[in-house]
Amino acid sequence: MLTQHLSGQLLRDQVTPGSADLSAIHALPNPPLVQLSTDDIHVRRCRLASDAIDSRFGRFRKDDMPRLLELIQGAPVLIGHDKRTLGVARFFGGDVEQREGVSWIIPQFYWPRAHSAADDLRVMIDSGVYSEASIAFTYRTPTCSVCGNDIRGCAHWPGRNYEDQLCFFYYDGIERVTEGSLVYRGAAHGTGFELPAHDGENANSAASHSLMSPTVSRLADDISTISPTPDSDDAGPTLTIKHRGRRYLALLRPLKED
Ligand SMILES: [Zn+2]
Repeated sequence: MLTQHLSGQLLRDQVTPGSADLSAIHALPNPPLVQLSTDDIHVRRCRLASDAIDSRFGRFRKDDMPRLLELIQGAPVLIGHDKRTLGVARFFGGDVEQREGVSWIIPQFYWPRAHSAADDLRVMIDSGVYSEASIAFTYRTPTCSVCGNDIRGCAHWPGRNYEDQLCFFYYDGIERVTEGSLVYRGAAHGTGFELPAHDGENANSAASHSLMSPTVSRLADDISTISPTPDSDDAGPTLTIKHRGRRYLALLRPLKED
């Protein structure tokens, strides 16, 4: 008989949420009933919507992006816009970011580690299998980009060219964001998921973490570059770590025993 043992973890959880994440989650409407700790949840970011023209020739106005981010707060993360199910995660916090001339809303979302399928979701997102997202929302008026009227009544057709200008429509009068979904193919180009840009705290404060602390020790398992820095004083040797495009200075100190 042949037997085989497999061991090891496909992808470790590389990110520890920070206290700012917990504060934002507990400030949501209908907050968690129990006080969550950083060990209780997974957190990821989602490029959920942009102000580029989507595959339906609709487009958010750049000025509406902060409002969209506001409206997504506390909304559920669903699978494939299936409203017959409950969410697998919940949006909180995040930013509006400009990337290569496109404005994005990038909310964060969290889900509890104690859920029986929590690691399945994390592994599928982190491995890139779940790779696109889509926002569900309600709005009042599709405004024609050519004439500025309601496109349902004007002479122009979205997707056609008029004097070499592509006709599209703006999503005007956004009323509600009902949910954001993991989808097999999003209507907007470039959606997807990211690890939090920071390691739990403000990105700038990461530089002051000790390499020996639990947070940065996890980070150190996933570094792309590590190089010694000349010792500056008697505080101990330092290392320069480059992780996901950011540079961190880490001070080596012995672990304190409690
Ligand atoms: Zn028109």
